[in-house]
Amino acid sequence: MSKILIIGGSLGGLLAANVLHREGHDVCVLEKVRGSMDGRGAGIVTHDALFAGLQRAGLDGTETLGVQVQQRVALDVDGQEVAMLEMPQILTSWSRLYDALHQLLPAERYVQGVVVQKIDNDATGAVVHGLTAEGVKTWSADLVIASDGIRSVVRQQFAPQVQPEYAGYVAWRGVCDESVLSERTLKSVFEKFGFGLPAGEQIIGYPVAGQGNDTRPGHRAYNFVWYRAASEVTLAALLTDADGTHYQGGIPPGKVDWRQIADMRQAARTLLAPQFAEMIEKTAQPFLQPIFDVRSEQVAFGRVGLMGDASFVARPHIGMGVTKAAQDAVALADAIGEHGATPQALLAYEKNRLPEGQAAVARARWLGAYMQAQTNSLSAQQAGRSARDVVSETAIDLGRYGHLSNFPGEAAYRPDFAAVASTIL
Ligand SMILES: Cc1cc2nc3c(=O)[nH]c(=O)nc-3n(C[C@H](O)[C@H](O)[C@H](O)COP(=O)(O)OP(=O)(O)OC[C@H]3O[C@@H](n4cnc5c(N)ncnc54)[C@H](O)[C@@H]3O)c2cc1C
Repeated sequence: MSKILIIGGSLGGLLAANVLHREGHDVCVLEKVRGSMDGRGAGIVTHDALFAGLQRAGLDGTETLGVQVQQRVALDVDGQEVAMLEMPQILTSWSRLYDALHQLLPAERYVQGVVVQKIDNDATGAVVHGLTAEGVKTWSADLVIASDGIRSVVRQQFAPQVQPEYAGYVAWRGVCDESVLSERTLKSVFEKFGFGLPAGEQIIGYPVAGQGNDTRPGHRAYNFVWYRAASEVTLAALLTDADGTHYQGGIPPGKVDWRQIADMRQAARTLLAPQFAEMIEKTAQPFLQPIFDVRSEQVAFGRVGLMGDASFVARPHIGMGVTKAAQDAVALADAIGEHGATPQALLAYEKNRLPEGQAAVARARWLGAYMQAQTNSLSAQQAGRSARDVVSETAIDLGRYGHLSNFPGEAAYRPDFAAVASTIL
């Protein structure tokens, strides 16, 4: 039985741990957060590949994982429909997926309160060093899989040149209860994947389970994400709380300055459809995330592999972060099944996933270019996209709806697309 350590116990780490555990490996997750991880995420768009990964992880009944929408709709500033598409899709949420995956894994295989600091990695095995409440401890393994997110310490150790690059815009996010919304908003957009497209900006939203993961009508919620350009100077102000403390890279949800929230709500009233402005007004605690790209050139380092956001972060317009983590988990398990828990397995995994990750970053940059504060030829080229283009290209399942997309060559999203991807970076 191979010993495999997984660093990071969020969705990516849990997907890999469950898949590998079911396939007979001795798996242990090391997660730095102590206590409950619930309530950390918001809405998640799903794709067929995510459900395939969840099934491989042992999760059946995936139809209960979220809320189904049938249509997409774009609303103008007066709240009138300007584009509509039939596009069934299931929308879930971070906590729904986390709960399901966490429950599947035996408790002793999920160790919290370990801040991994470094890994020793040689021909015979790997040793992980982590800080715990009792001091520094070590764990040895045949392989270490790093799923420790966008600011991965493991990537920092093995590929320090790869850093998150700020995309030039932020996402204001929030989740508004269905029960507080007006009839007009409920009827015109609540049960749909909604879009609003002010010049150089974009708001999307969709229904998700409400409190307690309740998907019954009347008990659901609407998840919105509003992308707004922000120069480096504006970003610095947005990431500073009301007491003047600055949070480089990301501000905790409860710390966003109330004056920034008030300004954002005011802008929503003039720029967005009243339906979206109402949701934003009625969301108690909107939060803010800067948008970053992470693009790796290597994800296998001897006995250490990177997966999930630790390896690639594509802007959320492709709605692929968790799906990509599921694909990574499946590819890892396949490679380990074929080559054993060896460096060769990680090289096979890298060969499979590197071009996919790079193409995902390229496609997401292409979709988001027109929103960035720093303009270039790509953003200028994207500025004239129609509402129908945006509605039909955002967060689509390429397996199902790729024919609707204008991305230069859908085949490009497959490994042989690397050449095309490099021309638009
Ligand atoms: C605005 C926005 C919208 C999005 N929408 C979607 C969507 O619709 N669909 C979708 O699929 N994806 C979406 N995503 C992306 C998705 O949220 C991420 O891709 C996904 O959650 C990545 O999971 P992960 O497990 O790789 O990383 P993370 O969730 O970042 O987890 C990393 C884990 O590692 C732990 N950790 C970190 N450092 C250490 C350490 N030193 N030692 C031990 N543990 C450590 C952390 O505590 C954390 O639990 C969106 C992202 C954004 C910003």
